[in-house]
Amino acid sequence: MSGTQAPGFYRYKIGSFEITAINDGIWLIDLNANIVPNAPLPDVQQAFTASGLPTGKYVIPFTSLVVNTGSQLILLDTGTGGRHVPTTGTWSANFAAAGFKPEQVDRIVISHFHPDHINGIWTKDDKLAFPNAEIMVPAPEFAFWMDDGNMAKAPDAAKPTWQNTRRVMTPIANKVTRFDPGKEVAPGVTSIAAYGHTPGHTAFAIASGNRSLLAISDSTNHPALFVRNPEWQFMFDADRAMAVENRKRLLDRAAADKMQVAGFHWPFPATGFVTKEGSGYRLEPAHWSNLI
Ligand SMILES: [Zn+2]
Repeated sequence: MSGTQAPGFYRYKIGSFEITAINDGIWLIDLNANIVPNAPLPDVQQAFTASGLPTGKYVIPFTSLVVNTGSQLILLDTGTGGRHVPTTGTWSANFAAAGFKPEQVDRIVISHFHPDHINGIWTKDDKLAFPNAEIMVPAPEFAFWMDDGNMAKAPDAAKPTWQNTRRVMTPIANKVTRFDPGKEVAPGVTSIAAYGHTPGHTAFAIASGNRSLLAISDSTNHPALFVRNPEWQFMFDADRAMAVENRKRLLDRAAADKMQVAGFHWPFPATGFVTKEGSGYRLEPAHWSNLI
């Protein structure tokens, strides 16, 4: 008996770019009525059952992307940095198993400031994890979280997230590059405003040759719920109506333009294609291939 999983990395090509999905483990939370506040719990359970998933626990995977453009190694989000629950924190081992070294990363591009996306900027002993990387963050996200007035107004339950954001960002506040969503953040990588999950939440279009990948970040959480039912609201979305609107806009674009899609909280390897189906979308997950 092994009792352990194979390394969690998976490669695929978008044009001449080589993408490597790096898994950071999963988080199991109790499935309750708060998670989708505008749908009855039995409907949510049924959506999981329809995808062959358990209904007692909600399984949240974490997967960020390494984009090798041939001239630059770009990291889209960094993972939990080993500071979340014990079933997560496999990112660094998987990154190493994929053959990468932290000093090879040229640029880190952050989608939003939730801890599972930014904590990997720092090692567990408080050193910058990627010593040669320029760190790029969405300007509206930085403005929101670094505003002391916003922090003072935040409910007590959210205070740990704010404190964590300051822990990560304050020491590097003067050296991060703030970009306006809509702008290119690297050759072939264009940011897209996708606000709602957080005030500055950003998605990315990665284009090379005649192929393109839409990295939707946290525009949906688990696809069995929110790709299938894009109108369903998610507990962790700050502005739920805006999150729904932008989720539908991105999924519509992916379906219409036949873009490959990657979702940070999708089941590994966290990529596939979406088509319109009924009032929602259907995800056809990428099929594992030994050819990239
Ligand atoms: Zn997230």
